[in-house]
Amino acid sequence: MRVKFWGVRGSTPTPHAENMRYGGNTSCVEVRLGDEIYVFDCGTGFRSLGMGLRHEFGPRPVRAHVFVSHFHWDHIQGLPFFGPLYDKPENKFIFHCSSRTRSLKSVLEEQMATPYFPVAMTEMKSQYDFYNIEEGKLKLDDITIKTAWLNHPQGCMGFRIETKEGVVVYATDNEPGDAAFDKSVRKLAEGADILIYDAQYLPEEYAARRRGWGHSHWREAVNVVMESGAKELILFHHDPEHTDACIDSVVKEARNHYPKVRAAAEGMEINLPFSAAAKK
Ligand SMILES: [Zn+2]
Ligand SMILES: [Zn+2]
Repeated sequence: MRVKFWGVRGSTPTPHAENMRYGGNTSCVEVRLGDEIYVFDCGTGFRSLGMGLRHEFGPRPVRAHVFVSHFHWDHIQGLPFFGPLYDKPENKFIFHCSSRTRSLKSVLEEQMATPYFPVAMTEMKSQYDFYNIEEGKLKLDDITIKTAWLNHPQGCMGFRIETKEGVVVYATDNEPGDAAFDKSVRKLAEGADILIYDAQYLPEEYAARRRGWGHSHWREAVNVVMESGAKELILFHHDPEHTDACIDSVVKEARNHYPKVRAAAEGMEINLPFSAAAKK
């Protein structure tokens, strides 16, 4: 199994020189298990994934399951720019998200409506379906996806991807401080090989002026990995104002509390299981 990061930034794309080592594209993570492709969120990194898939597959059809955590811009902005949606009828995309606030189909239609976007959804030649998921469990091919609501304005869904090669948890856009949600995210992350977690703010930024904005900070991310027994923490959803140097210092400080911490960077790949990857 391979986890690849195509977009790691929160809130808005930040294509600035001082951010480019970690990357400026918004949320998009790909999980590849054998030939199956699972995507988590469609921020601007989703466009880069589309280019990568076109290059990799050429004339062959592309099929993927795409999970959308919620509909804030940084999780959907890449959708109209995902090339394989337009390419050919053999391509197939199965979108999964909660329609508690709105269906993804109507979000996408509205996102592409006049006068916001010049291309209509009818130009998308691929097959695409939308499935509603709520809190619970979903079995697909060789994997099980467990979902849990996170603490975020207008809601956000966290995902636990269980496979025979390892367990990955994608839990972004989550604010600490609500006892029920705090417990729930730790349960979602329990014993995972990889925990991808919202670390948008510095703890002092959060305390001073970001309470109620729906995000976490690296110190809480460390608490979640340690208290859930997950093995490795990947800090994710970097704040637009956090430069590469700032993120470097966050990782250094976080490692004083827990050794297995990395910050997500565009293009970064993690192979599971760790033992098999290490033997290669
Ligand atoms: Zn976000
Ligand atoms: Zn959000």
